[in-house]
Amino acid sequence: MPTSKWPCADQNDISDQSAHQDLNNDTFDAFDTSDMSMFSSASDSENESSSDSEDEANGMLPDLTECAESIYSSLLDNDSELFSDEEDTKSELDIFVPIQLDPSSPPVLVVSTEIPIPTINCPAEPTPVTSQPDPAPLADGMHKKAPNLDEAKAALIDLTKMLFPQRKTGPGYKDPNLNPFVRERMQGMAGLLSMYTNSKSTMYGKWIAASQEVAIMQRRGETAYARRLRTWACRFIKDRTKVPANPYGKWNKSQIEDEDLSQDILQHLQSLGPNIRALDIVNYLNYPDVRKKYRMKKGISEQTARKWLQRMGFRWTLDPKGQYVDGHERPDVVDYRQKVYISRMLLADPRLRTYSKMGEENTPEERDGVRRVVIWYHDESVFYAHDRRKKSWVHKDAGAAPYKKGEGHSLMVADFVSADYGWLRGPDGRSARRLFRPGKKRDGWFTNEDILEQIKDAIALVKELYPHDDHIFVYDNATTHLKRPVDAPSARNMPKNPNETWGVEINELDANGKKKKIRMAGGMFDGKPQSFYFPEGHSKAGWFKGMATILEERGISTKGLNAQCKDFKCKEGASDCCCRRILYNQADFVNVKSTLEITCEAEGTAVVFLPKFHCELNPIEQCWGYAKRIYRMYEPSSQEADLERNVISSLASIPLSSIRRFANRSRRFMDAYNKGLDGKQAAWASRKYRGHRVLPASLMDDMEKAKI
Ligand SMILES: [Zn+2]
Repeated sequence: MPTSKWPCADQNDISDQSAHQDLNNDTFDAFDTSDMSMFSSASDSENESSSDSEDEANGMLPDLTECAESIYSSLLDNDSELFSDEEDTKSELDIFVPIQLDPSSPPVLVVSTEIPIPTINCPAEPTPVTSQPDPAPLADGMHKKAPNLDEAKAALIDLTKMLFPQRKTGPGYKDPNLNPFVRERMQGMAGLLSMYTNSKSTMYGKWIAASQEVAIMQRRGETAYARRLRTWACRFIKDRTKVPANPYGKWNKSQIEDEDLSQDILQHLQSLGPNIRALDIVNYLNYPDVRKKYRMKKGISEQTARKWLQRMGFRWTLDPKGQYVDGHERPDVVDYRQKVYISRMLLADPRLRTYSKMGEENTPEERDGVRRVVIWYHDESVFYAHDRRKKSWVHKDAGAAPYKKGEGHSLMVADFVSADYGWLRGPDGRSARRLFRPGKKRDGWFTNEDILEQIKDAIALVKELYPHDDHIFVYDNATTHLKRPVDAPSARNMPKNPNETWGVEINELDANGKKKKIRMAGGMFDGKPQSFYFPEGHSKAGWFKGMATILEERGISTKGLNAQCKDFKCKEGASDCCCRRILYNQADFVNVKSTLEITCEAEGTAVVFLPKFHCELNPIEQCWGYAKRIYRMYEPSSQEADLERNVISSLASIPLSSIRRFANRSRRFMDAYNKGLDGKQAAWASRKYRGHRVLPASLMDDMEKAKI
């Protein structure tokens, strides 16, 4: 483990020798949240400025519940490039002089002692299997020789087909579904081949000059990138399967892509119970019969095993919210991030105040006279008296791990922060902050009612304190935040046929001790409201209409359709297989607003939900990190009063300039995603351009250079 990979280990944590030994022994069960700071890896500690760089770096994500990016990075073992930027590493190490880093401590492996660990006699010490390095792009010297014109023409035709696949029927093209980087490279190759082979081009027959021209057009390095282009093109001319690789594609070559093997492992792991370790895979692959079956000469390292776990859908769960960090690049999550979150946030962008990396306002002049928007980031975080927490590998299908109680006193804080004003506070100390003792409430968590009350207070406060601004509230994707009104249209429990008594059950008992029912609110179809109950004068006045009638009224025939497919497990992609599925997909059923949205909109404010697993987009996460860092410096105490006082004072200690830098960092991540980078690339870019609010024009070039 290269030291440089974990440059941001927290001094307090490392000095905890017992925890440290446990880490080495790999047999501990509860572990300090701060252990995770090892994985925080300062991948973006923004510590360029000398003034409070240490604060920044230390405040950076030491909280394991709250940092997708750090864990994300730490799991990407083969991503050493991400951390190999020597300059960055050096500066961080300079800052952390007093910290004793122990490069030998294994970073991520977590073991729950509650689960018996099977003992397996290893036939041999497993040797780490390192992934094959990408072939050096220029090793074959192909860039030197100009290709034959006819061959180049033929290759251009094929390349064009790949870039613009024809639809099977009708005109137009299909989306070739290429990674943006691969696409850019292929476009460059096509440009080169086209200039080189087109007799009308001034570059006709001029191989090297044409490649340089294209490199300039693509705003890339005239020499290095041009050479790469020529290499790629020549390889493609020789072999049509050779297209520039997605730098992440190499994972796909992993042995775990073997379905049988992954199924076998999965089954084995499932047999071990809900909590598993990377070591379980290592052990499994040391069974002689398993090795024989898969013709493996060697076992794998724990590092590789962790990679495999990841590939097989195992994720870190982060108690107490139980979110699976690596859902980060899940297609639906990415889709939401790009199409909903970023586009909504960018709408407000021209009306935001901006801040330098020193935290000073530097809003561009052209925004003068524009009514400002303030973004208030909301979040909840738990402070523990003993600052300890548990986590474990859990299969993603196992569901969220329930929040565990009894880890000493804890205090949940739910609050709002903005780059413009810091924490939401009145001069008289009023706030919308909620302090909450999770262990004392039955569900151990903030309810949707709590959330609604809190936002009402927050809205009243921002309107009073900052009436000249507009306000957006940003919440994470927790179910308590997304809750819809109880009577909102939902196809879930509807009967197919008319029913005299059907309604939505609510958490209130009637005189007979049964749950009370209320009418479901109506839907909208063709711009007109549709009641789900028969009107007065109808022979079944007041009855629930049933799915069939509701659909028929929308002009959708339900002839021959069942209420639902068995267990509502419809065929994948089916949209008209059963009444429930059809209704489920109706616009007014899909687009039900959450109570939080309804509340905010009624007050002339807006709410935007973060994409799942993207806590790097929420600067408040770093505020928690900063505050917890301070919090741990206080005298340990089991007294509840001390806990509360320490939490409040640590939150108050975050300088506004730091909050602004945290906000810049989130904005930078957003810019990276907006420019088409994935999570890993965004983490790299955010680190590379720390201090920037948006990424510079040299991004693509720099990524190319860094082989990102
Ligand atoms: Zn169905």
